[in-house]
Amino acid sequence: MIRFFLRWRHWLLLAVCLGSLGVYLASNNQRERGRIEAREVERLTLQSRVMEDTLTRQFTAINRSLESISAETLRWEGQLNGRIEGLGRLKSMEAAMPAVRTFLVLDAKGIATLSNREELIGSNFYQREYFQAPLRSLNPNTLHVSAPFKSALDVYVLALSRAVMDVDGKFVGVVVATVDPVNLQILLSSVRYADDMRSTLVHGDGTVFAIEPPTSGVLGADLSSANSFFSRHLKSHIPVSHFKGKAYAAGDEQLVVLWTIQPPDLSMDKPVVFAVSRQLDSLFVQWRSDVQSQFLAYLFLVLLSSLGLTFYHRQRVQLRVNNQRLKLATEASGVGIWEYDLSTRRYHWDSAMFGLFGLTPQSVNTLNNDWRLLLLPGELERMKEATRTTIQDDVAFDLTFQVRRTDGEVRFMRNRAALHRDARGMPSRLIGATEDVTERDLQEAYLRVAATVFDCQEAIIVTDAKQLILRVNPAFTELFGYTSADAVGATPKILQSGRHEQAFYAALWDGISRNGAWQGEIWNRRKNAEVFPLWLNVSAVHNHQGVVTHFVATYTDITLRKATEDEIKQLAFHDPLTQLPNRRLLNDRLHRAMIQAKRDQKRLALMFIDLDKFKPVNDAFGHLTGDELLQAVALRLQACVRESDTVARIGGDEFVLLLPIIDCAEDAMAVAEKVHLALTQPFTLPKGQIVNISSSTGIAIYPDHGHSETELTLHADTAMYRAKAAGRDRFVLFSESTENGAAQPFNTQQAQP
Ligand code: GH3
Ligand code: MG
Repeated sequence: MIRFFLRWRHWLLLAVCLGSLGVYLASNNQRERGRIEAREVERLTLQSRVMEDTLTRQFTAINRSLESISAETLRWEGQLNGRIEGLGRLKSMEAAMPAVRTFLVLDAKGIATLSNREELIGSNFYQREYFQAPLRSLNPNTLHVSAPFKSALDVYVLALSRAVMDVDGKFVGVVVATVDPVNLQILLSSVRYADDMRSTLVHGDGTVFAIEPPTSGVLGADLSSANSFFSRHLKSHIPVSHFKGKAYAAGDEQLVVLWTIQPPDLSMDKPVVFAVSRQLDSLFVQWRSDVQSQFLAYLFLVLLSSLGLTFYHRQRVQLRVNNQRLKLATEASGVGIWEYDLSTRRYHWDSAMFGLFGLTPQSVNTLNNDWRLLLLPGELERMKEATRTTIQDDVAFDLTFQVRRTDGEVRFMRNRAALHRDARGMPSRLIGATEDVTERDLQEAYLRVAATVFDCQEAIIVTDAKQLILRVNPAFTELFGYTSADAVGATPKILQSGRHEQAFYAALWDGISRNGAWQGEIWNRRKNAEVFPLWLNVSAVHNHQGVVTHFVATYTDITLRKATEDEIKQLAFHDPLTQLPNRRLLNDRLHRAMIQAKRDQKRLALMFIDLDKFKPVNDAFGHLTGDELLQAVALRLQACVRESDTVARIGGDEFVLLLPIIDCAEDAMAVAEKVHLALTQPFTLPKGQIVNISSSTGIAIYPDHGHSETELTLHADTAMYRAKAAGRDRFVLFSESTENGAAQPFNTQQAQP
């Protein structure tokens, strides 16, 4: 019930207001109707009074005339020329009294003896009511008002008559005056002031004998029926009364005033009743039109106010919806809304504000300004300064300050506010929004860092989950030659060099899906088709659900590094003078070759080759020339063997040959012979010197002459020394039997010069 009332209160209020206004207007109109009616009754009464006055005057005058006629009629009878005198008198009287049409002097038998209208003299009026009534009453003081009768001219005529008695009281006749209907008509017409108005004269017995304006069916009507206004008026015995309703005579709704005219001085036997009326319809024409326009205005007001209220309600609903939206929006955005009243110095906060500061509406003071205690040192002064500037210069308030929330966390709060002024234009309030921008600031910082990283010297591409390139950085363009326009939309396959097997990429993606990242060396191709080594680092980027959304790949050009590595490798494993493998690399290869030979149950040969009498070459041509000779020897040795064989220089003028796969010792001997022969050929050095040298070679075969590397090496060396000892310029295959100090070459072959 209360909810219903609250919900519809505006409509209820409007209904009450409009209802009261309607009731007031209706009662006012009703009162006005009454007033109009009363005023009209008053006016009609006034007109009736005028009529009564006039008629009384006329009747009095007629009565007097009749009195004087009856007084003189006896004298006229007795005199000789009395008739002539009487005639003259009657004529002059009639001329003086416009209300009278005919004067008649009737004898006791009703015969006209005298009249102003001579044609009537001698006529018998015995039957006439104006004769009979005085004859019946025989009272000479009574003025008889006869019932109206229709004259020969078809007009109703009213006759006033008096009995004439002689001195002995004997009835001698009647004097009569008939009232002129035309005169009555004029009289009736004179009291009318409105077209719808009717004035009527009714005889005391109810016969209407004059009416203005003339109305058919009313003249001559009998109004004496029991319920007519006329009967009710006469029955009331008061001279004047008024009625409202359906008039018997006219048949329409009327306001009627009836006035009985029967002056006491005249001793009239019957009264005459004057009725004056107005049509109610016409009377209230103006009122009705006023009421109508009032009603229309009222309807208009009802309509307008209903529309207004409907509109207002819609606006309110819209406002509520908007507020709700705003609330949702601010809640969702985590923005708090506040208002600072400059006059009361009080802060009004919405619930989000309390949440931002970790406060509750119950925990704050009445001005709600204790949040200032949470500000870090110096921040309050900055805020006051910004507020001052806003008020003085009318600029927008935008300030980020730091607070230590009640939970101890330090947060960055961004405050934006606008100044509001009161009606006089004075600053009254600051309305603002506060937002915790800590995370956003951090994120922005991260983004800035990311942007800076992206613009670094390392080539970077970012792809989506389907490996379509979304972005590349300038370093990428620099490194690969692909512009951003070339690369975006393509996949990193454009960089593939073709140097890697499918298995390589499979391992790469396996690593990414397993660890989220992969790094390693890769060969890629530039736009200009140049292939070069890179260090690739691929990382997958996941969203909150752990789904991969992006890949980030960074490429580092390792061409230089690789070159350096190669150089170091070269330095570490090669002889700088001849570029041949050094002892370390030889040992390594020997080690592998032994394993392989062991596994395959094959033979391998190791040969130690030392140049004969090299020192004298040095001495004779110089050390540099010696070096050149060593380089030339290296080339010749390499020319004597296969790709899979190794030629090493292990020091001074000492070279080693490793043949990893041989079938038998004879194979090795054949190579030794080839080498021997090659080195015997004269060397033409760069500066034109021609040098002849020879060499001594010792050969050891695995597994025949040793199972370990050390053993095999030792035996090859031993064989070489044996060749030296045997006179040089030869090659010697190791043999066990000569091991114990045998100086003589055994099973030694002298190289053929
Ligand atoms: P033998 O017939 O007994 O081998 O006598 P040899 O003169 O060849 O002397 P040996 O093999 O004992 O010594 C090699 C000499 O080679 C020693 C050194 O003077 C010389 N030598 C060593 N290394 C280099 C080098 O790198 N460049 C030059 N030019 N000479 C070297
Ligand atoms: Mg030597």
